[in-house]
Amino acid sequence: MSRFIILMYHMISEPQTAAEVRFACPPKQFEKHLQLLLKKGYTPVSINQVSNYYTQNIPLPDKAVLITLDDGFEDNYLNALPIFQRYHIPALIYLATGLIGKTNQWMTSPTFSERKILSWSQIKEMADYGIEFGSHTVSHPRLNELGDEKVEQELTVSKQTIEEHLGKECAHFAYPYGLLTESTRDLVKNTGFKTACSTRSGFNNAERDPLILHRIEVYGNDPTWKLNQKINFGTNEASLLFPLQYYANRLLTRLG
Ligand SMILES: [Zn+2]
Repeated sequence: MSRFIILMYHMISEPQTAAEVRFACPPKQFEKHLQLLLKKGYTPVSINQVSNYYTQNIPLPDKAVLITLDDGFEDNYLNALPIFQRYHIPALIYLATGLIGKTNQWMTSPTFSERKILSWSQIKEMADYGIEFGSHTVSHPRLNELGDEKVEQELTVSKQTIEEHLGKECAHFAYPYGLLTESTRDLVKNTGFKTACSTRSGFNNAERDPLILHRIEVYGNDPTWKLNQKINFGTNEASLLFPLQYYANRLLTRLG
């Protein structure tokens, strides 16, 4: 196993506004994405497998892929859960615990619609089916703009809240907006998290810091050929010309 990928999704439903097209993947499209991964020989893995790879050196299968969903939208329960069950795919959902049972109030831009966030009973039901839950802070702040004490509070409280509700350790974290500093990363580690996902794109391997894992962002309207290109090249930006440019650059680097 040389490398593995982590995919990042948000809402699994029809977009309600133009701005949501990137973040809202219609369920039929999402199912096609998962079918493509399976068809191409990818093995969906859980965050605990990823964590054990870093902490205990337990190898991951070839072409391992971890599916993550940020923010805990209610549509993850309504639309994504049945698909995960149908294909027996493990997944990880990152929760901002102060927003459970409420709406996406941190998305203040009027270009986004108001959407429901999961309730604890939905979260527990999903956890019973094997879906895993990580922390995404309490209030979804920009952690790079907060003092250490406030960051620590966001981390500790959300970790404890998830642990109290699910009755097991919550060892995984994702930085809201992918924003972090060196000190944020260290606070995440000191709070007891074993892994943390950023929004930096690219593949992961043994050399990667498990507290700054990279993810490939899948856009809600990505056709399967774009997803295919993203996972082949470890990039967020797919285009018809991309492979040509990629190989041309590699050739130039080799010649230069
Ligand atoms: Zn988020």
